[in-house]
Amino acid sequence: MSALTDLTIAEARTALRSKKMSARELTTAHVEAVAGARALNAFITETPDRALAMAAESDKRLASGQGRALDGIPLAIKDLFCTRDVQTTAGSRILSGFKPPYESTVSQNLWNAGAVMLGKVNLDEFAMGSSNMTSAFGGVKNPWKRRGDARDLVPGGSSGGSAAAVAARVAMGATATDTGGSIRQPAAFCGVVGIKPTYGRCSRWGIVAFASSLDQAGPITRDVRDAAIMLGAMASHDPKDSTSVPREVPDYEAALGRSIKGLRFGIPKEYRLDGMSPEIEKLWQQGIAWLKEAGAEPVEISLPHTRYALPTYYIVAPAEASSNLARYDGVRFGLRVPGNSIEELYENTRGQGFGAEVRRRILIGTYVLSAGYYDAYYLKAQQVRALIARDFTEAYRRCDVILTPTAPSAAFAMGDKMDDPVAMYLNDVFTVTVNLAGLPGISVPAGLSSDGLPLGLQLIGRAFDEETLFTVSHVLERAAGFTARPGV
Ligand code: GLN
Repeated sequence: MSALTDLTIAEARTALRSKKMSARELTTAHVEAVAGARALNAFITETPDRALAMAAESDKRLASGQGRALDGIPLAIKDLFCTRDVQTTAGSRILSGFKPPYESTVSQNLWNAGAVMLGKVNLDEFAMGSSNMTSAFGGVKNPWKRRGDARDLVPGGSSGGSAAAVAARVAMGATATDTGGSIRQPAAFCGVVGIKPTYGRCSRWGIVAFASSLDQAGPITRDVRDAAIMLGAMASHDPKDSTSVPREVPDYEAALGRSIKGLRFGIPKEYRLDGMSPEIEKLWQQGIAWLKEAGAEPVEISLPHTRYALPTYYIVAPAEASSNLARYDGVRFGLRVPGNSIEELYENTRGQGFGAEVRRRILIGTYVLSAGYYDAYYLKAQQVRALIARDFTEAYRRCDVILTPTAPSAAFAMGDKMDDPVAMYLNDVFTVTVNLAGLPGISVPAGLSSDGLPLGLQLIGRAFDEETLFTVSHVLERAAGFTARPGV
């Protein structure tokens, strides 16, 4: 059965349509793989019965030649997407036992395309984190380990369960969300592909909100083609999300294999950080060389406000989070810790329901929005955000796409950086600018660190130009020929 879990989505699609295997066989292999990989702690909820029932429906459609885009493909869903009648926790104690009476638009789109749900995967609490360690359900283990070192490593965050499940070959793909890097950084740490599409490309309806002006859903998969297939099914215009954009979803797969001759790719000089690891610098240079060999032309560009991106993000995101998380009061959802008055019920529920990182963000957010500080912090951050977005607009006069590393390091050990929030926040130095500007970004595995861990390169595109990202990342993927696997 192990061979079935090695297939890519594209390969499985062909095998299912030509009836070389059934959706039931493919799903059974993955359900067993999920159960066999429980030591990773990637899943919060497994839904094997639902998976097999969905596979049976897929088999009926496939038998009558009515197979849909993802018919019979077993996927994991980040536990931030509401799934009807299936517990949705956002990685938090405060939502324990919450079974939504509705389905998120993105997951509904996947089921409409015939995909099969394996279960709900672990994440940092309310998607706040870069290591998965803030989850109330415990950290996820990265299936990769450093060469000759038995220590468990983080899979990155917040979509660590999604990336670990895909890398460990227990799910063919997974949904994820990205507010400041949470699709791309875990994809890089686990040696898989992750794309955060343009803000507005996927509906946010039914996704537990963290920072609404930054949150976007996207897929994590094992290769670029699978990411194109999965994003095509996830994306849609949704009247239920007023920020979702009424644009046709292109055929992303058709963008693979196009020539990049004459394409100009920007290298932002501000991304060359002081003290950056020589390995990351080398990987970046290698990426430049690969794109040049394929006929593209590098251009040095400047994104002058980059150094303000992290401070800006860590004002805007907590501000929006403090407002979004006000709804968890013990009255309407999940956990309720009673008290002698309604105020005490709120305090007890929120005090015991939220973990330390979420409480920190609520405090920061409330502070920067408070009368007297609003202008100094929140308003200023909004102004700087506009300048960061303008930097990209200027840069795209001179180039078509931007190439950077995805993260400043490879995966780190579980427990590292936990006592230093600023060191943890630095993980997002190359990714948050993209969210602040609402642009699409993709991470592709491009090489290994000296101790054998995956490293990713990021491509940033113009708004709604995911197609160029798929074209160029496919070129990088072929050049890198990344075939290493965890634990092998
Ligand atoms: N690591 C970032 C944070 O902690 C980004 C998280 C995300 O993209 N959801 O906020």
